[in-house]
Amino acid sequence: MSETSRETVAKSAPQRALEKLGLTRDIDRVLHLPLRYEDETRLDPIQALRDGDLGQVEGVVTERRIDTHPRRQLLAWLRDDSGELVLRFLNFHAGQQKALEPGVRLRARGELRVGFFGREMVHPSLKGVAEGAPLAQTLTPVYPTSAALPQAYLRKVIASALRRTPLDELLPPGCVPAGLPPLREALRLLHEPPPDEALEPLQDRSHAAWQRLKFEELLAQQLAQADAHRERQLLRAPPLPTPDGDNAPHSLHTRLQAALPFALTEAQQRVCTEIDADLTRHSPMHRLLQGDVGSGKTVVAALAAARAMDAGWQCALMAPTEILAEQHFRKLVQWLEPLGIQVAWLTGSRKGKGRRLMLEQVANGQALLVVGTHAVIQDDVVFARLGLAIVDEQHRFGVAQRLALRAKLADQQLEPHLLMMSATPIPRTLAMTYFADLDVSTIDALPPGRTPVVTKVFADSRRDAVIGRIRDEVTKGRQVYWVCPLIEESETLDLQNATQTHQQLSAALDGTAVGLLHGRMPAADKAAVMAQFSSGALAVLVATTVIEVGVDVPNASLMVIEHAERFGLSQLHQLRGRVGRGAVASVCVLLYTAPLSDAGKARLRAMAETTDGFEIARRDLDIRGPGEFMGARQSGDALLRFADLQQDTALLEIARRWAPRLWQDHPAAAHAQVERWLGGRQAFLKA
Ligand code: ADP
Ligand code: MG
Repeated sequence: MSETSRETVAKSAPQRALEKLGLTRDIDRVLHLPLRYEDETRLDPIQALRDGDLGQVEGVVTERRIDTHPRRQLLAWLRDDSGELVLRFLNFHAGQQKALEPGVRLRARGELRVGFFGREMVHPSLKGVAEGAPLAQTLTPVYPTSAALPQAYLRKVIASALRRTPLDELLPPGCVPAGLPPLREALRLLHEPPPDEALEPLQDRSHAAWQRLKFEELLAQQLAQADAHRERQLLRAPPLPTPDGDNAPHSLHTRLQAALPFALTEAQQRVCTEIDADLTRHSPMHRLLQGDVGSGKTVVAALAAARAMDAGWQCALMAPTEILAEQHFRKLVQWLEPLGIQVAWLTGSRKGKGRRLMLEQVANGQALLVVGTHAVIQDDVVFARLGLAIVDEQHRFGVAQRLALRAKLADQQLEPHLLMMSATPIPRTLAMTYFADLDVSTIDALPPGRTPVVTKVFADSRRDAVIGRIRDEVTKGRQVYWVCPLIEESETLDLQNATQTHQQLSAALDGTAVGLLHGRMPAADKAAVMAQFSSGALAVLVATTVIEVGVDVPNASLMVIEHAERFGLSQLHQLRGRVGRGAVASVCVLLYTAPLSDAGKARLRAMAETTDGFEIARRDLDIRGPGEFMGARQSGDALLRFADLQQDTALLEIARRWAPRLWQDHPAAAHAQVERWLGGRQAFLKA
């Protein structure tokens, strides 16, 4: 019978429950593995069990009664050759009472306690047996299940699926790491372990049989990713060749690089080379540029944009917020307008005639470089020749929005190259599993001359001292951010909080220009405040998290984050990245209000201990687990059921090496492996 066979009888409640758990195909059922085991393979003499032992005893009921003092409970005495114990039920039904009829022979399993009645088991599981009834031959699996799906039923369904499913070895010799059993053997062992099998390696999943399953799962996932990668290779993008010969010195790219007020760091040069190589190809680039906050991603983006324009194609740069988009816009205008390039500005708040005119220029190809928020990818925006799309802070950008980019080219046969930028580095193991379809470039060093930010954690009671510190900085001609938390339930409260802090600081810092920036302000007002802060007209800026990403004011040397315990770790890291952008030593003060949760404590500790974005990301992963870390993308099914990305990196490496080889040399096996493990879930993986 094939692995995809289904039972065809009309659906009962447990069958619907099976479906709900995704246990329809035989293969899905055999891949539903026990949480733990019960040992029904042996009997313990009653007298041999000690306080706290888990055991199974068999005996005859000698007495049964219902006590009402100190509370209502059902008691039954069970006797074997060695002694006697009490079975005790605090809640019970008539069926149980009946099952404990004196004279009946029973097996009882549970934890032995020594209590008021002597030896007892409270709420043991019971089974009526005939004398000499055989014991279980294997350990009894306990499966994860739902209320609607009785354990015994699930056991039967899985056992029969296990007997039916062929579970042929799909993988060629050499692929499976040495020492791991064949799949069929591994599954049999995990579902039906022999009585003498040690429980610990089974339950902590270190057993070779578990390793085999984890490897299979990781391999299936790597195969699916490799497949997505290959499919993308079949798509066409406009090649954006590097100008050469006589043209090269006049190219925008060359002129831009010459005009920059600084030299690129080695890390920046390296990632530029990687990006340039992608852009010359006929298949679309799909690259993630990661670099810690302040590492200088914007200039890399600008140089990539120059490549596109040199080749006669348009480039779009998108950012998640207007403030951030505006910053990019200013930077690009500053760099490119002297070189004769008009930068177009497109956001949601731009309406009416200005917008219509802009859209026209985008559609007829006159606007070569378009900067904006998500508005850039709205329906009515069509590009004549979009060659490159750059998305900043890609983790804030939904998959759907990224996919919408594909429809942006007038020529539907072509896709633009895609460069995504992120300051939240993805730990390597996650990148390998969830983003195997993405090429990654990393800026791993900050521009020279930066002094690392010193982070201090203070209780909110020290607010006045912190305000004194602000005064000192301002006197030295430096600038200060004060960040108020986002109160999720209430934007109004949020605003109130920021407004109050603004008043408090204005009063305390008499004579200092204090600005206020929050999410409810009209875009134009936000931009105006931000411009005043950038120019130094405002010394202190009280802001909600609208300044979270990408804002660049090098003279800001102090950041205070109020209620820091309410922020996520990567958010704190992003915020802190707004200071320490110039040569002056900068400080970030995290104010918290007690009591702190464990996770809150862990986050603040991480912030105080390191400024390295990769280390922060690793700790974030530790605190939150991969599902949450990845956010929306992984909000569907947990993609990995068995493997653990932090523990099973060795297996992951092997799977990753083999995936492309399997597609190449054993395509049928690769297909079967993906089908076996991922069934209908591939589409999700490709999103
Ligand atoms: P991020 O990677 O966080 O987006 P930015 O691109 O905003 O960082 O760069 C941070 C600051 O560093 C900017 O002021 C930028 O002009 C400056 N910068 C970028 N590259 C260099 C470099 N090679 N040398 C000196 N300063 C640089
Ligand atoms: Mg940036």
